[in-house]
Amino acid sequence: MRVLIIEDDLDIATNLYDFLEGRGNVVDLARDGVTGMHLAVSDEFDAIVLDLGLPGIDGLSLCGKLRREARRDVPILVLTARDVLDDKLAAFDCGADDYLVKPFALREVEARLKALVSRRRGRVVDRKLVAGVIEFDTASLAVAVDGRPVHLSRKCLHLLEMLMSAPNRVYSRAELEQALWGDEHPQSDSLRSHMHLLRRALTDGRGHSPIETVHGVGYRFAAHDGSPA
Ligand code: CA
Repeated sequence: MRVLIIEDDLDIATNLYDFLEGRGNVVDLARDGVTGMHLAVSDEFDAIVLDLGLPGIDGLSLCGKLRREARRDVPILVLTARDVLDDKLAAFDCGADDYLVKPFALREVEARLKALVSRRRGRVVDRKLVAGVIEFDTASLAVAVDGRPVHLSRKCLHLLEMLMSAPNRVYSRAELEQALWGDEHPQSDSLRSHMHLLRRALTDGRGHSPIETVHGVGYRFAAHDGSPA
């Protein structure tokens, strides 16, 4: 995930940053509301962790502006210092998706962010993923390599969406199997077979495919040539 943390408390900000980055996320940090607002509108994030008490613009105003003026629907997880119903209701009124009361467990932040992001992925239908010569329209499920249409099975499309949504991120085999087959254990070489088909389908005119095997770990979609990472 690409996550923006907007939090002025240095200890909390640093802990969140280190934890989320250590878990393979790409993380940006803003220590005041103005910088946070600027980053939130000028860049694309999968989710935002937003503290309410901030210098510059406070969290509630920032959240409201992001929704109403900038028209961003990025999931927002609010951090509140007080476990007070009014604070939570105000956060939801401003368009926040979820909240956590400080102090919180870092693992819970990550779990909530993941839930928000996957809920949104199900909602976003007109999303076009582009990397180098590969285009994937996740609404029509059309995939093209160098402008040439490519036909993929459902499972391969699912794999491609996961991989392209997080370029360069290494997915473990277990993670991918869980996403594709849930708790029914696939045959031992099913994932490899699908990856083989996907890799072959995505090979461009120069014989290059972006799907890379990370030995002993899993797979990743390698973004080259200035594609978004
Ligand atoms: Ca604060």
